[in-house]
Amino acid sequence: MDTNDITAIKQLLSTPKNIVIVPHKNPDGDAIGSTLGLYHFLNKYNHNTQVITPNDYPGFLKWAPGESFILKYDSQSEECNKVIEKADIIFTLDFNAFHRTGAMAPMLETSKALKILIDHHQEPDDYATFMYSDVNMSSTCEMIYHFIDMLGSTDKIDVDIATCLYLGIMTDTGSFRFPSTTSTTHRIVAELIDKGAKNANIHNNVYDTNSYNRLQLLGCALTNLKVLPELRTAYITLSQDELRKFDYKKGDTEGVVNYALSLNNIIFAAIFIEDKQEGIIKISLRSKGGFSVNEFSRAHFNGGGHNNAAGGRSETPLKSTVEKFLSILPQYKNALNHE
Ligand code: 5GP
Ligand code: MN
Repeated sequence: MDTNDITAIKQLLSTPKNIVIVPHKNPDGDAIGSTLGLYHFLNKYNHNTQVITPNDYPGFLKWAPGESFILKYDSQSEECNKVIEKADIIFTLDFNAFHRTGAMAPMLETSKALKILIDHHQEPDDYATFMYSDVNMSSTCEMIYHFIDMLGSTDKIDVDIATCLYLGIMTDTGSFRFPSTTSTTHRIVAELIDKGAKNANIHNNVYDTNSYNRLQLLGCALTNLKVLPELRTAYITLSQDELRKFDYKKGDTEGVVNYALSLNNIIFAAIFIEDKQEGIIKISLRSKGGFSVNEFSRAHFNGGGHNNAAGGRSETPLKSTVEKFLSILPQYKNALNHE
């Protein structure tokens, strides 16, 4: 995004507009934090702003300031369509291609509204009039901070904006420990605390509100953990029956794959989660160092994401999906052992 773009966006935002802000399906902390952070910011300029998520999100995000005003496309599609039809501008945040919004994609594709993309995923599609894409960024929330800074408006950041942006930076950096966390990230986070973000409370709201069942499900996942030391790989499976047994709620499996990656000498981790309703196996992949799970997922599991964190899916049963994974892995033996 260059100074011409910023000048044009400033001009565009200088009069009140109807604005829709959309994150990816199954929104995570960064998706919710960035959309709500931008929402609070735009409302300061008297825009008529609406966040629409493709579907619901985990309970551990249902405290973020402004969260109760979010519309969910899957359960409120009629109302959402009306808002999208009236939109002058649509911000698409934390995703790189319309299909990542699921059933919302056709509405976004046909909408005449001007699109502004802000995102840190690899290989974004070319649909936006203004595109702020940077794969080196820790999070879309960090990019929203830079966006506000480029507009010369950091003085507008209040406690709500600061809280939302802190939320997404914290979750997307694994609490400030992934290599994407830079000194700039820390400077921004310090600034957000100065603006009123209550760091300990935010951490508590996201990570220390587990149900007993969620911890029991984690126990089950850890029992299912398999390790392939010669391939420096570990993986976890969770069947629909296991999810049911522990009364699975959205978000309960978030972060579970990281336990596999925490094993000494393991640099590639996967979790396979059976979703009978959608008829798919949802796959989450994580790595350390130069082994790109984005490329691995694009090549074999219909997905993508970042170098060290990606998602994918399979339409064959759990058992055969895992067999496919195990049959592919030996091709990568050298790459996995040279990290
Ligand atoms: P997760 O494993 O937590 O679902 O996703 C890890 C990262 O990969 C997130 O940044 C997520 O947005 C991205 N991701 C997940 N699934 C897909 C996918 O199917 N395609 C792409 N391009 N990115 C994905
Ligand atoms: Mn993100």
